[in-house]
Formats: sequence, C-alpha cells, structure tokens
Amino acid sequence: LPTRADLVDYNYAVAGHDGTLCDVDGELFIKPCTPAEIAFYEASVAAHPDFAEFMPTFLGTLTLDEQQNASIEEQGAALIAAHTNGVIQENETLPIAKHTVPEVVVPVKTGKRIATNQAIVLENAAHGYVKPNILDVKLGVRLWADDAPKEKQIRFDKVTEETTHKDLGFRIAGMRVWQGNSAAANKDIDEEGYKVYDKNYGRFSLNKENVHEAFRDFIFTESAGIDEELGRLVCQAFLADLERIQEVMEKQESQMFSASLLFVFEGDGVALRAAMEEASKSPATLLNEDDPNSEVDDEDEEEDTGPKIYSVKIIDFAHAQWTPGMGPDENSLKGVRSVMKILRDLAKV
Ligand code: ADP
Ligand code: MN
Repeated sequence: LPTRADLVDYNYAVAGHDGTLCDVDGELFIKPCTPAEIAFYEASVAAHPDFAEFMPTFLGTLTLDEQQNASIEEQGAALIAAHTNGVIQENETLPIAKHTVPEVVVPVKTGKRIATNQAIVLENAAHGYVKPNILDVKLGVRLWADDAPKEKQIRFDKVTEETTHKDLGFRIAGMRVWQGNSAAANKDIDEEGYKVYDKNYGRFSLNKENVHEAFRDFIFTESAGIDEELGRLVCQAFLADLERIQEVMEKQESQMFSASLLFVFEGDGVALRAAMEEASKSPATLLNEDDPNSEVDDEDEEEDTGPKIYSVKIIDFAHAQWTPGMGPDENSLKGVRSVMKILRDLAKV
C-alpha cells in the first residue's frame, strides 16, 4: 500500500505560491488552487480540446486536509494512487468530454499562505528530463481580473508600469537553468548545478531592451553542452508550439489574467543531443506535432518512446474564463507574440 510518503514537496517550481507537491516518482504536480481554476480546467477539457492540448494534462482534484490522522492519510494516499491510475487509463480510452474527476480526501500539511483546501492534480511538465530547464513567462499587459479589489488593481498596474508587461505583454516570472557538471554551488547556483532566477530578476533586472538576454541565458548554456546550433533547434521547437498556441488563441474567446507560458527543455546538452537524434528517426516527436493525416501515430506512443526534448504549456488559470462573445484574449496574445519575436531572433544564424 502506498503511504503519505507518496506526496513530497515539489522543489522545481520557478514562481508562484508555496505549497506545491508531487508524488515520489515526480509524474504528478499538485497545486493548491481556487475553485475558479478547477472550473477552467474542467470547461477546457470538456469543450476546448485545441486549447486543452497545451494545458498540463488534468488528472483530477484533491481536498487538502490539515488533520494529521494516520489512517486517513494511508487511505488518502491509496485513493490518490488508485484514482490517478484510473484516470490516466480512462484518459487514454475515453473521449475527452467524458473525463470525470472524482474527488478524494487526503491530509496534507498546508503552508500558511494557502487560503484554499482544494488542489489540482496535473501532469508534471518537468518530469522525464535528465536536467529540466524551466522558464515561467507571465502573460498580459493588464494583470488583474475584473473582480480584483481596487488595492490589487493599483498594485498590479504598478508592476505593469515598471516591467516588460507594459510594452511586451509578458515578464519573466522565474527560471532555472542547469549549468553543467563542473558548475560549483554558490549563492546563485544550487547543489544540483541549477542557476535559479527568482521573481526579482524579471521585475527589477530586465527591461524591453535586454529581456532577450534572459531567453538566451535560458536556452544557450555552453557549460552544459548547449552550443549555438543546439540552442537554435530548441528555439525553433518552442516557436513551432507557440505558433500553434497563437493560432488557437486567436480563434477562441477566453480571458486569462496572469496566466503563464511554462517552457521546459532538456538542459543537459549531451542528453538533449541524444534525444534529438533519437527523435529525428521519427520526425513528429521533435516538434510535438500530430500529423493530421496519420491516425496511428498517436501522442501516447510518442510520449512513451524516446527521451524528452521540450514542452510548452499554458498554466495558472486562477483568473481565466471562457468568455463567448468577447473576442480573443489580445491581452495575453500580446505576450505570446512578443516571446515569438524574441525566439525568432535567437533562432537566426
Ligand atoms: P501560482 O498560482 O502559485 O502562480 P502556477 O500555476 O503559476 O501557480 O504554478 C507555480 C509554479 O509551479 C510555476 O511557475 C511552475 O514552475 C510550476 N508548475 C505549475 N504547473 C506545473 C506543472 N503542471 N508541471 C510542472 N511545474 C508546474
Ligand atoms: Mn503563476
């Protein structure tokens, strides 16, 4: 029987609130969240499959319970295991619209900043990499939803005014970049060799003239074996997904405030090169593209075979809604287009 040890702190979050968890294998990402975020996942999975494709796979919800009761703990953990296994299988065989999310109760010690006992269980986008490099790009010029209190509107407008949100419609919320085996730990580099850029980096060190350097530092890490050629391939792969994201967002009617693009790629140059070589044997894997003309070449097979190269996901839907009649989300699209421009420049020889 699985025990409470099935849930551990998730240590790779690059931005956002404390209190994220994952299972021991690291396949699941569990985040305390609001009912609004759960509702947006459910609505997207049910009715907007093109967009849901770019959300982390939604596996279900949990009710976090602060009571520390051993027997409930064991029960809860067992339920999670059964539940998530069940949902993963169900997801593979049932049409997406039939996806159901039975709720289970599990006791978890919550941090004091968490004002909700609801949590969402997602696929961990950073799972399966040797050294995942992770970047959170927060989208939007305006960062607050209509229901935000006046105080928050003023505070967030100041953030917009002082950062790249104003002109580019995004800011770097945080990132971690592997520096190679010979990188020594110091105040910026952790024990595993990751350079960690916290929320202050994108708020106070970057502006519209130099923000491209952040993307360069995220992707091209010579000391980790990622040279110009390899780095440009990564830019192209990200661009292919962003083009699709832009296309989907331009034809849908939603409003997201402070959602993020979550970029992940293999930060170990040797592993990255090997993964790309492997993928070049079946080209669909490299660009994560489903060939519409091929019915057999399904996603699950791709995910199971071959090492991971990269992914682009849209995350953080605490203030997101489907808004029929209101047109596309130009506020978020501005950020998507700005990031694409930067990546296009970096992909050039
Ligand atoms: P918050 O509302 O606290 O900002 P987010 O949804 O933005 O929550 O998540 C916070 C951080 O957690 C992100 O910056 C990212 O690093 C990590 N994260 C979020 N979702 C996933 C996921 N599905 N897989 C891996 N990491 C994730
Ligand atoms: Mn966030």
